[in-house]
Amino acid sequence: MTVAERSIPFFPYSQLFLAREEEIISVMTDVCRRGAYILQQECRDFEANLSDFMGAKHAFGVANGTDAIIIGLRAAGIEAGDEVILPSHTYIATAAAVHMVGAIPVLAECGADHMLDPEDVLRKITSKTKAIMPVQINGRTCDMVALQEIADEHGLLVCEDAAQALGSKFDGQSAGTFGVFGTISFYPAKLLGCFGDGGAIVTNDDNVAEKIGLLRDHGRNEEGVVVAWGLNSRLDNLHAAVLDLKLKSFREDIERRRKIATLYQEGLGDVDALILPPAPDSDPRHFDVYQNYELEADRRSELREHLTQSGVGTIIQWAGTPVHQFKELGFTDHLPKTDEFFRRCLMLPMNMALSDEDVSYVIASVRRFYGK
Ligand SMILES: *Cc1c(COP(=O)(O)O)cnc(C)c1O
Repeated sequence: MTVAERSIPFFPYSQLFLAREEEIISVMTDVCRRGAYILQQECRDFEANLSDFMGAKHAFGVANGTDAIIIGLRAAGIEAGDEVILPSHTYIATAAAVHMVGAIPVLAECGADHMLDPEDVLRKITSKTKAIMPVQINGRTCDMVALQEIADEHGLLVCEDAAQALGSKFDGQSAGTFGVFGTISFYPAKLLGCFGDGGAIVTNDDNVAEKIGLLRDHGRNEEGVVVAWGLNSRLDNLHAAVLDLKLKSFREDIERRRKIATLYQEGLGDVDALILPPAPDSDPRHFDVYQNYELEADRRSELREHLTQSGVGTIIQWAGTPVHQFKELGFTDHLPKTDEFFRRCLMLPMNMALSDEDVSYVIASVRRFYGK
């Protein structure tokens, strides 16, 4: 066995802090010295800047991306017994949020582009269906025109899980702003990550916005009077301050991610054993931001082992289990396309700490495996 020439972790949590340590600590010190912890100016500023960035009317910071979906669904009026259609290729959080409001998660296939398949959505609609919840996976936005058409035809709401897609666009419109609400996660490994849990909900609907504002803060209105049942699900002001700082350079982060995706495309595009995600400018309707670089590979497990030996960290999304395979939760769905995808999918490193040399090393390691 040879010793790996480089060590490229899948996600270098501490490196990303160390790269901007001074700035971040100075923002944190400022907040803490003023004792400004819950729903303070930094949170309001961040919400305003986030809604500007996304082109949404309202944004609310909440405790995490899972709460964001639960609160959004409640604010949108999803109730016990309602069916919500979502892709099985998603984090358990999407389905769990539907379950937690008493509704029923109905799982659908992903299409050739790995996104929620509109044709399978059509097959899953029943008299109980209330909403379609596309998941904007890996920093790509679904064909929202096709999904909205289906929703309109059947009188359904569209609710977006855009946890992985801040900055992604379809037809020039931001992920998260198509449906009645959209949610974002600020989990550390997400596109815009904080140092723990955090999330946001955006909406263009004033009524839904009012309900979200109440639901995330104990049902209290702006005067502090309790007018509805609510939760404690607020984005910490300290995190809001850090996120607001990071948002200022977020467009450059996206450009860097797209550059890395371009390098992967150029370096691996000729390997027949792989199906790569769409390249940054391959389809003018999509602006992808590459939360992840998820490909399909022949001999996936051996490739993964070879990359581990070469010092390259990889991940199989959702620890290799799409939602419908969690039999303990009662799912009995037969989703052969998703099953097949999960026998082949793998994520290469994609983060802001990767140098061009790191990317070249990953590419060379993959090529070596396929004898290229
Ligand atoms: C991360 C993620 C969530 C949940 O976000 P948390 O902030 O971890 O609660 C939901 N859906 C998808 C698709 C995600 O990737």
